[in-house]
Amino acid sequence: MTMDAAADLLQVANRVAVLTGAGISAESGIPTFRDALSGLWASYDPEELATPAAFRRNPQLVWDWYAERRAKVAEARPNQGHFALVEIERRVPEFTLLTQNVDGLHREAGSRHVVELHGNIRRVRCSDEGIVVERWVEGEERPPRCPRCSGFLRPDVVWFGEDLPEGALEAAGRSAEECDLFLSVGTSNLVVPAASLPWQAHRHGAPVIVINTTVEGQHSGPGIHHLVGKAGEVLPALVRAAWPTDRTAW
Ligand code: NAD
Repeated sequence: MTMDAAADLLQVANRVAVLTGAGISAESGIPTFRDALSGLWASYDPEELATPAAFRRNPQLVWDWYAERRAKVAEARPNQGHFALVEIERRVPEFTLLTQNVDGLHREAGSRHVVELHGNIRRVRCSDEGIVVERWVEGEERPPRCPRCSGFLRPDVVWFGEDLPEGALEAAGRSAEECDLFLSVGTSNLVVPAASLPWQAHRHGAPVIVINTTVEGQHSGPGIHHLVGKAGEVLPALVRAAWPTDRTAW
């Protein structure tokens, strides 16, 4: 699809739903899921690190992997892709941002209506009681213990095989079904149930625009369009094409 054709769809849309994945944060220096398993972690499978069973088997290994990723996220800043979505939200009547990302960069950029489908890596919770713990000591003992019950602390993210936060999938499904344009940005669309959201929108008649550096493995078919490139370049170009005379500071 051409940028102008995509811009035409965006310009007239009243309800826009966007699904983002790790690809939108790649330009902020946060590795995508596959790339995160580089260096020290290259020999691991995601299933060995991001499952409840992995945590039971080797809580220190899982804690250490997330601690490293949390440190990376703390240094990262939103990029032009995140900011472009803030601009879209400012301009369309109804907008929902559904993210699989756990880095919190959409909110940091200024997006308001965000549904975090997979939690947030900056938060930590007790693996026994589930309560979110604001402060913990990163010391000798890893994982650290819950100050209330001494259970192990864990990242407040959704692991493979776990349920999404209460209400998140329902809210996401509603947005997908009610939107009149769906954007799928920087996701491999392999992780269910989030991967079904573009299809849900498509089944309900909304055009789907897939923004990714590759079309390989992506949805295809009538009503599914592709803009190939980096989210940090394609999304700002899309905003400029949709609202060419809008001369706000951005
Ligand atoms: P993924 O790693 O499976 O796929 C990333 C996708 O982004 C790929 O299709 C790739 O082609 C594309 N991509 C890479 N760079 C891009 C760019 N600059 N612009 C546009 N597209 C680009 O990620 P996923 O689909 O989000 O699924 C993996 C799971 O891992 C998610 O559940 C997510 O919670 C988690 N995760 C999150 C983060 C984060 O919060 N930043 C990082 C890694 C993994």
